[in-house]
Amino acid sequence: MLTSEELATRIARVQQVITEAAERAGRDPRAVRIVAVTKGVERALVDLAYQLGLRIFGENRVQEAAQKFGETPLPEDAELHLIGHLQTNKARSAVRLFSMIHSVDRIPLVLELERRSERLNQRVPVLIQINVAREPQKHGCAPEEAPSLVQAILAAPQLELRGLMTIAPLTSHDEDIRQVFRMLRLLRDDLEQRFGIPLPELSMGMTNDFPIAVEEGATLVRIGRALFGERQDGDRLVR
Ligand SMILES: *Cc1c(COP(=O)(O)O)cnc(C)c1O
Repeated sequence: MLTSEELATRIARVQQVITEAAERAGRDPRAVRIVAVTKGVERALVDLAYQLGLRIFGENRVQEAAQKFGETPLPEDAELHLIGHLQTNKARSAVRLFSMIHSVDRIPLVLELERRSERLNQRVPVLIQINVAREPQKHGCAPEEAPSLVQAILAAPQLELRGLMTIAPLTSHDEDIRQVFRMLRLLRDDLEQRFGIPLPELSMGMTNDFPIAVEEGATLVRIGRALFGERQDGDRLVR
């Protein structure tokens, strides 16, 4: 496991890169929050990250999150976000475990989340995941499907639509990545106007591309490896 000092250094480095990217873009660095991605990371290290000041944690699988946080939740002032694909039959557990769901991408899931959160009498902040680059193997709805999802979520009283999320393609062409993040921001602006609602959150950027995401307007950057090191058990990111 990383030592406290090593982790503190990594957190400070990520924070520094965020600050520099925000300043390049004329943004307030405090408008960008780190979602520390803890898939494959043992609970003790998550707790250490909390002690070092991180407050938002992201898991991409309901089952792993339930094992890690089900019995011993994070402290009250911390948030656990679901950043990975959500199967409809896991909606109930997801509503119980997570304080935000980044991966809402189809209407049946909206309906099931609404049904489950109503029964549990809980409000659930959600983001719509957009497959901006239209990669066939990737989850997320197509950009042109976003308005119908917005409509469905607005019609679901327990769900609180907070913004959009995307995963950039795995490429070393920075301009292609930037284009994807920019398109997500423009889609957000368009939906805000069209529906007359605020959509403050843009969840975009990971270890490989978060400086670009911050320059393009990210408010939530989802960072795993830059904080916790390379994952031992294989990357379960579904791209
Ligand atoms: C794993 C994962 C991340 C973090 O990836 P890193 O490359 O470790 O920063 C971000 N978003 C999603 C959806 C993930 O599954």
